[in-house]
Amino acid sequence: MKAETVLEGLDALFPDARCELNHRNSFELAVAVILSAQTTDASVNRVTPGLFEKYPDAASLASADIHEIERCIASLGLYRNKARAIQGMAKALLEKYHGEIPSARKDLESLPGVGRKCANVILSECFGIPALAVDTHVSRVSRRLGLARPDDSLITVEAKLKRKIPRDRWIHAHHQMIFFGRYLCHSRNPECGRCPFADQCRAPEKKKEKKTASGK
Ligand code: SF4
Repeated sequence: MKAETVLEGLDALFPDARCELNHRNSFELAVAVILSAQTTDASVNRVTPGLFEKYPDAASLASADIHEIERCIASLGLYRNKARAIQGMAKALLEKYHGEIPSARKDLESLPGVGRKCANVILSECFGIPALAVDTHVSRVSRRLGLARPDDSLITVEAKLKRKIPRDRWIHAHHQMIFFGRYLCHSRNPECGRCPFADQCRAPEKKKEKKTASGK
């Protein structure tokens, strides 16, 4: 499918797509993104208000009792590892960046718990730097829509999307693809009956139901 077709469809479906991890600054977003690994943004949003009230900045998180951090985020999967990752990140911020989130990719990726996907989210969301984070939704949707091949690695998916989507659309298109994957083209039961791409979709997961005029 042509990228222009996908972008037009996504504009019609999700004109206001945005980051759904609640945050008030770059420190909070970095923590939230680390916590979001293998869990939903909604789950993260349930624990971060309490966490950020106790630990509003890198200094307070770096010096916190690790068991207290674990208690704050215990409802999340992998919470012990995540507690260590966010505290490790806070310590690295204090040691190397005066407690502030850096704006260079290589600096971000040097932080504990921050990989390429996290760095892309922080770069785009906090600094307005065009980036295209490939998470589970973006990866799945790209393959199903034919913007990437089924066997492409995440880095290849990212490279293909960057080639096909205009640079000034990267940030918004990334949010739109996440919304599309989260609210329509689900992993297990995609709602193909109300999908604007159903006529052209060749995905093996596509359901055979007919597209309805009402969109239901
Ligand atoms: S037709 Fe179904 S599988 Fe294909 S893109 Fe639409 S929702 Fe996803």
